[in-house]
Order: sequence, then structure tokens, then C-alpha cells
Amino acid sequence: MAAGFGFCVTHRDGLARRGVIDTPHGPVDTPVFMPVGTRATVKGVLPRDLAEMGARIVLGNTYHLYLRPGDALVARHGGLHRFMGWDGPTLTDSGGYQVFSLGDRCRLSEAGAEFRSHLDGSTHLLTPESAADIQARLGADVAMVLDECTAFPATPDVAARSLERTARWAARARARHLAIAAGETDVVPSTPGQAQFGIVQGGVHDDLRRASAEATIAVGFEGYAIGGLSVGEPVDVMYDVVEHTAPRLPADRPRYLMGTGMPDDLVESVARGIDLFDCVLPTRNARNGQLFTRRGPLSIKNARYAEDPRPVDPDCGCPVCRRHSRAYLRYLFVAGEMNAAALNTLHNLHFYLDTMRRIRKAIEFGTFGTFKREFLETYSRRNLND
Ligand SMILES: [Zn+2]
Repeated sequence: MAAGFGFCVTHRDGLARRGVIDTPHGPVDTPVFMPVGTRATVKGVLPRDLAEMGARIVLGNTYHLYLRPGDALVARHGGLHRFMGWDGPTLTDSGGYQVFSLGDRCRLSEAGAEFRSHLDGSTHLLTPESAADIQARLGADVAMVLDECTAFPATPDVAARSLERTARWAARARARHLAIAAGETDVVPSTPGQAQFGIVQGGVHDDLRRASAEATIAVGFEGYAIGGLSVGEPVDVMYDVVEHTAPRLPADRPRYLMGTGMPDDLVESVARGIDLFDCVLPTRNARNGQLFTRRGPLSIKNARYAEDPRPVDPDCGCPVCRRHSRAYLRYLFVAGEMNAAALNTLHNLHFYLDTMRRIRKAIEFGTFGTFKREFLETYSRRNLND
């Protein structure tokens, strides 16, 4: 364990876990949702508002920050926290997902991923070691290893080769991370005590997921993520993978389900032992006018809200619902006012953070099963009659 980082489970309800992660920038109550701040800013929200609505840990994107403004510049300005004006904990992904999404602008080898920047076409090589270096300079509390995100669908053969490479990369990333922490490199970490999480891949093949989990655990990390999901597979398949993978991960380390976060995914995955989530959904959908409420999602641009004096969600205590009507929010959206995005984002993030608060309370009280059943009556994408 890196100094300054720790995890303990305080309550259990079935497989659901209530816990606390200690980081160099303070504790994080789990299960937790991490708002996505791709370019060192959560689109449309001020850090002050994030803190006020109870966000505890924010995600940054290594690929974007490496290309612009550059990890060296961020380090010169005190690291990611000081640079973006966020005092709380942060996590950076490795950049692998974005690099592999570049398609034919990315070439993969054992060394790493060579890619051309989407900004100016310049060529870069992202390796397990350089991803660790960049993240040490950015200085998030939690760094992720560079992994190869297996496409869906993938044949068992392709998935197997992909996860074997991911395992070799994990060992290289860990060695580099430990060397940086020990002061054996010329990389100066912006946050001493940064933790590093490994990533389990393996597509939707159970034997490959098991092999990947074993290989990743053998390297040894402060926490473990399940990657390569929410890439087009049916939700039931995704929940099955989570159900079989989570219990194979060490019980005393946090478990992070990467990039997955429809409201029902949060509840279904907590029920299977997941502690951390991130997803662009609440923020991206807010900018498109989709708002989440206790009674289900609504599209604020719909003409039926033109004269509606009610708040977006009568059960929501967020500043938007306390002050503004659906009629006003619809008008802002249709008029293309930038505060439409700001207010919609505030409400949606509040809904997500509040859902996680309710999940944590339910686990504490031992009523998570009831909470889950009621929540899924509104939000499940599965056939509830199954
Ligand atoms: Zn609200």
C-alpha cells in the first residue's frame, strides 16, 4: 500500500460494501460516483458547486491532459488539484481507452501504443512506463495502469492475446510506479503517496476474466478495476461479468467499474460488490437535455414542459430544483443559453451523488435489498419479470 492510501469496509449488506478510501487529499466514502472532468474541468460546473453538492473525487483524463496543456505544465503549476482548483481527491485514467478509440490513428506493439494526436496530428508513444510518468506528474491520488481495451465482440483468441499483453503491461507499469515513488527516476510526483490500480480485462469470457484477475492480483495494486465493459454488450452480460469478477478481487481493496453508469448500473453493480464508478452520462446527457429524476428520466426540450411550473424533480433538493421551473429550464435549452447546460448538469450530478448517498445509507441500515428493488422499478433496463 502506498503511504497515505488505505481502504476499509465498514458495513456489508449481501455483497454490497460500505467503506472508506483514504487518499492523500482526504477520505472518500464508498460506494462513490466520480464526476468526469476530462480536461481538468467538469463541463459546466464550478469546483465550488461540485464540493457543495457532495462530490468527493473527480476524474481527469491522461490522454487529453498529456496533449494539452501537458503534464509538465500541470506539474509546474502544483499538480492537477491546484491547477484545477479542486482540493479533494482525484483519479486519472491511463489514456489507453482514448488512444485505442483513435482507430487507425493508433498502432499497437509490445512497447506500447503509438498514436497521432487528434489536436495537431503529431506522433506520440504511450507506454506502460510513460503513462505512469505522466500520471505521477499530473499527481492524481489514484493512477491507472495502461491496459489494452478489448473490443466487443472479440473472439476468445483475440481477447486472450489482449489480456496477456495487458498483464505484461501491468507488471511494467507497477515497476515504474514503485520506482517513481522510491525516487529512483527523474520524475517528481506532484502528489506523494499516489496509489495505482490494476485493470482486469478479458471481454465477456469468464475463463479469460478469471485469468486476467489472477494475473493482475499477482502483480499487486492498491485497488482493482474492471475494464472493457459498457462497450456494446447486453446489460445482463455485463452484470454477469461483474458478478463473477468482483468476488475474485481482494476483499480488502477497492473495486472500480470503469466507464459504466446508467442509474441502474450503479445499483446493480453495488449489489455485486463494486465500490467506485465513473461515467460521462449525467454530464453529457444534461447538455443534451436529458434529466434524471426519482420518477425516471425526462427530456426537458419536450414541448409538454413549456408551461410546466413544477421543478424538474419535486423530490430533489438541488439548487436548480429549489429555484427553477421546468418551463424556465426548457426555455433556456431551446434558446441555446449556456446556463441551460450549467443548470442541467448541476441537477443530474446531484441526482447521481444523491443516489450514491442513498445507497450508502441503505447498506448501513441493512436495507439495500429493498432500496434496490424500489429503485429498479423505475430505472431497470432488464426485464423485471425474469
Ligand atoms: Zn434537482
